[in-house]
Amino acid sequence: MKTNIVTPALRNIKIEDPLFAHYSDMISEKLLPYQWDVLNDRLPEVEKSYCVRNFRIAAGELDDERLGAIFCDTDAYKWLETLAFCIESGRGKDFEPTADELIELIGRAQEDDGYLNTYFSVCHPDRKWKNLAEGHELYCAGHLIEAAVAYYGATGKRRILDIAVKFADLICRIFGQEEGQVKGCAGHQEIELALIKLSRVTGNKAYAEKARYLLDIRGQSPNYLVDELKRTGKDRIFPEFKDYDELYAQSHLPPVNQTTAEGHAVRAMYMYSAMADVAREFGDQNMKNACRSIWKNVTEKRMYITGGLGSSGHLERFTADYDLPNDRMYCESCASVGLMMFGARMAALSGDARYYDIVEKALCNTVLAGISAEGDKYFYVNPLEIWPDNCIAGTSMAHVKPVRQSWFGVACCPSNIARTLASLGQYIYAQDEKSIYINQIISSTLETRMKDAAIKLRLCSELMDKNRFSLSIQADRAQSFTIRIRVPEYLKNPVFVLEGKAIAPVIENGYAVVAVSHAGSQTLEVSGSITPRWMAANTNVRADLGSLALMYGPYVYCLEETDNGKLLSNIYVSADTQVEIGNGFDTLPGALPSLHFEGCRLESGTGDKLYAEPSFSFSSQRLTAVPYALWCNREPGEMQVWLKARI
Ligand SMILES: [Zn+2]
Repeated sequence: MKTNIVTPALRNIKIEDPLFAHYSDMISEKLLPYQWDVLNDRLPEVEKSYCVRNFRIAAGELDDERLGAIFCDTDAYKWLETLAFCIESGRGKDFEPTADELIELIGRAQEDDGYLNTYFSVCHPDRKWKNLAEGHELYCAGHLIEAAVAYYGATGKRRILDIAVKFADLICRIFGQEEGQVKGCAGHQEIELALIKLSRVTGNKAYAEKARYLLDIRGQSPNYLVDELKRTGKDRIFPEFKDYDELYAQSHLPPVNQTTAEGHAVRAMYMYSAMADVAREFGDQNMKNACRSIWKNVTEKRMYITGGLGSSGHLERFTADYDLPNDRMYCESCASVGLMMFGARMAALSGDARYYDIVEKALCNTVLAGISAEGDKYFYVNPLEIWPDNCIAGTSMAHVKPVRQSWFGVACCPSNIARTLASLGQYIYAQDEKSIYINQIISSTLETRMKDAAIKLRLCSELMDKNRFSLSIQADRAQSFTIRIRVPEYLKNPVFVLEGKAIAPVIENGYAVVAVSHAGSQTLEVSGSITPRWMAANTNVRADLGSLALMYGPYVYCLEETDNGKLLSNIYVSADTQVEIGNGFDTLPGALPSLHFEGCRLESGTGDKLYAEPSFSFSSQRLTAVPYALWCNREPGEMQVWLKARI
């Protein structure tokens, strides 16, 4: 069964929720100018990006050495995509002339045949398409295409779309089964989902066919990427690729035969998103089944309670079922962005709201934690516990930073978080010919059409303070359709009241289905109970056994040193510990509450000695927990999600 679920244009959605509107405003007002300065190397105290400068060199307008990460072209593309989403949402218009200049520069850096990549054009023109495992050419192309689709959609200007189409046409000629074509796949997936987007916006099915080809060629035997790395010898771009294996870039099997989440977590999520796209585009049931198996494996065995992914710092990858260490894992911000992408596509593929439970988990925890409230500092790695003193360079903890950073040598995450939050409306609403879907209970408005009727929705959420939300529905003429509202699993005993009368809507695929047929306005009110809750992990999760995590609504809470002192690992709580809802912090956005409870601290009685016979004792302590999404926005220090359980 092929669904026709699409997301409404961002221009028709307005975010009103205090937390998420904070991020929307911050992105257009502060983050866009900040990241533009970074991309132009204008901030002396921030790590250099070299991004815009590299395009000038590739365009022949600056005679200098090309520097920066080999794929840092994508920082410009993702900035452009973020700006496009802002413009479409009615913000950031002041930056449009700057963006048009950047697009012209990108165009001048494009080679005559359509090729566009500053690293290979400038540094290794003889090695194009010859090091797919490391080269990131297709990854960069994918982000160019995504930016082009977004900017064209927001402004109607074709220039960047034409640039992207020219490059996509070259890629279609380069890769394929014909004589003389490259029969390889991307070393870092991204091109596949981008080609699907390009196919949809241009109506050219050839791009979708090529996306499918690039998935199907993957994992064939002999393994193209592994053989290529052998062919190119020991001269590695990435030294850590000496440990490269077939799992790393999910090329151990053809994607349609994969059942578990393996390898580099961001590569994996981008590929699974493309698989879901291809399953939908071509009605491919086998691909859909593969997506379902992988989703189940990710969310039931390999995902952190925060929606973080990637248990190994080394090679930033998945490991084994239930291997979820809390302090030295990776949990890259981009991987959780990818999880949101994968989940939204699975929901569009199946019409099932439960995928949005996980999208919400990733969004409200790891993705928000990845960016500071002010928008100018970022986490790449998102641990669930921090002891700043052991985050030491040159050790196995070197990748874990105790505070957000201004920028990174490899800077995929800042712009990825930005483009995700700037396009948040796409994760709230969706529709097909019969229904409007409400996938996130985030205060916002939507203007859309159902056949001949103009529909206005206003969603007002007071979930976190009053455990209720309302939806006002206005139709300018009579039209039969349904509103499908995802009822979050944490809203217990929901009660539905339509125009003052209690109703008992059918719950279908996790959606409460409410029929609308008459013109005029009506209001649906949904209320229930949300209480702070203690969570335990599956017994097989060795890192969390005997520990408790605190959640309230979709938010995971954590302890910070600034509220609770040092040695948070010594704190014990009981599963029946009563939690009080506090007022939150004036200095943090969104008015999310703080949580307060009685815990106790364990002392071992060894005094100054490193080891001695134990003399354990507990002392009670009043504790304050804050949303993980907002940690490290006040004083830096220790942080802990999982607390030891006093059993
Ligand atoms: Zn990243």
